[in-house]
Formats: sequence, C-alpha cells, structure tokens
Amino acid sequence: MAHSAEGNVAKTVSSSRPSKPKLGQHFLTGSASAQRIVDALGDISQNTVLEIGPGRGALTSLLARKARRLIAVELDRVLSAQLRMKFSLTPNVEIIEADILALDFDSIFGPKPGSTRPGLELTPERIHVVGNLPYYITSELLLCLFAYRKYFDLVVVMVQKEVADRLAAKPGGAEYGLLSATAQLYGRVERLFTLAPGAFSPPPKVDSAVVRITIEPKLDELRVAEAPFIDFLRLSFGQKRKTLWNNLRENYDTKVLRAAMEKSKVDPGIRAEALSLEKSAALFRTLANGNPSTPGAK
Ligand code: SAM
Repeated sequence: MAHSAEGNVAKTVSSSRPSKPKLGQHFLTGSASAQRIVDALGDISQNTVLEIGPGRGALTSLLARKARRLIAVELDRVLSAQLRMKFSLTPNVEIIEADILALDFDSIFGPKPGSTRPGLELTPERIHVVGNLPYYITSELLLCLFAYRKYFDLVVVMVQKEVADRLAAKPGGAEYGLLSATAQLYGRVERLFTLAPGAFSPPPKVDSAVVRITIEPKLDELRVAEAPFIDFLRLSFGQKRKTLWNNLRENYDTKVLRAAMEKSKVDPGIRAEALSLEKSAALFRTLANGNPSTPGAK
C-alpha cells in the first residue's frame, strides 16, 4: 500500500479489508444534509478539495460550484464513468477512478518534475478533504491522511456515529481510546451533527455523524517523536481491561516504570483511557530519557 511508506501511523490499523461488494454505498438523499457537509468546509473558493467516494455526486455538484479545484476519487467503475460524463465540461473538476487507500498522494499533490530548483523549498498546497465515507475504510483512511498531513489542513467526513463519538471523546470517558488519542494528536476534532439511517439510500444499519478535523499536529508541543510515541500509545491502550501499569509492564522494566510514573505523577492503577495526551507524553518522555534504549523524547 502506497501510504504505509510515510511514518508508521498507518500501521495502527490492520490493512486487511473485507470484500464489500457494495463498497459502503449509502447515498445521501436530501440536499440539505449535503449542503451542511459542504458548508462545514467554510469558504473554499481558493482551495483545492479532495472528495472521497463521490458516488452519485450528492456532494460533488455543490463542491464543484464552490471550490477552486475539486479532485474526486471514486472506486466504483460505473459511478466514476458517470461522474466523468457529468462533469466533462466542468474545468475545475477531476474525477479519478481509484481506491483512495492505494492512491499515491505524492504524485498528485507533491512537486512535479521540473517544479523544484536547487535552493527553492516548495511548500505543498494544503488541501481540504471531504467525504461521506464508506465506513469500512474510516480508520485506515484517517491514519493515511494523518501520515500525509503535509498536504491536508481540514478534513470533514461523515462516519459511523460511534466512530465520531470516539474520535471526539475526552480522556476519562468510556469512548476515549487509541483512535481518540491518535486523532487528537494530529488535529482538533469537532463532532458536528448526526444523521439517521433514513437520510441515505439504501439506509445503513447505523446512525452517522459528521466530524471536522483541523489538522494541527501536537508532536512538537508534546516534545515527542512520532513513531515511538505512537508505539507507546498503542502499548498503553493494548488491552482495554488492563491498567496502564499492566499494559506498559510488557515492555518496560518494573523499577524503571515505577520511577517514571512517580516522577510524572501518573497513578499506576488507572487505565490509559483516563490519561490526557499531555500526561501520556510526560510519562513517555520520562521513560525515554531514563532509558537510552527507548528512543523518542525530543
Ligand atoms: N458521496 C456520496 C453520497 O454522499 O451520496 C456517496 C457516499 S457512499 C457512503 C461511499 C462512496 O465511496 C461510494 O460511492 C463507494 O463506491 C465509494 N468507495 C468505496 N470504497 C472506496 C475506496 N476505497 N476509494 C474510493 N471510493 C470508495
């Protein structure tokens, strides 16, 4: 998969995808919901927008009217052919038939051959991402977007309601977990509104919600290196029923761990769900600084 080359964040979720003959195809029926999603992007008149899974074009037509440039990626061959016909005379719209998870973002959004000169650092254009997602790719897709965050600044996506709750959850709540911590490490998450199954055709079995993620990585502020800190979070949340102590004990010497928890004022009896990113980072930095074989603190 092209995306796993960048960082190790994409490793967090298994890449084995179920074979879904219908590709998560639940099409928005009402124009009001489509309008609300597009409005959540703000003023896009100067932006390039990447739409994931345009389907029958419920969002695409609205986006085409508002965005400076629209790139829409649809995996379904028939739907993408229909969209190409529909937008063939619309110069700011490009329809790509592809699996979004296999797309090489560098070749689409990165510098083109001849566009760089020695001494000239090219800052990539920052793209807004939008989509009523096929739910089976949600986590993997978000992790890919985080891995390629140099190209993206805003993500507005419709996801399963429970996933939206987890993405936006605060530490201490039942929904807070690895997905929440990871998403909040890379961006500011807002849960905007929910839609009932009746808003789609055919209706899905679950409720849906729209989230907006403003990409604002916290790695520098937390003074942690990306890959080892993601590994640390994964270990912290390893087994949901275990305490933080029991999860971390798998990788750390107990004496070192006890001293680091004391120093960073973390109660060994809590679960990772109760720990803010700041506290996790403090513990991680203490462990990394106290143990030269643990890389990661900056
Ligand atoms: N945007 C449309 C709407 O709101 O009515 C369709 C949304 S539907 C939930 C998801 C769309 O994503 C479908 O058109 C489906 O064919 C497409 N899709 C599924 N898997 C995809 C993938 N891996 N890459 C790109 N598109 C995909």
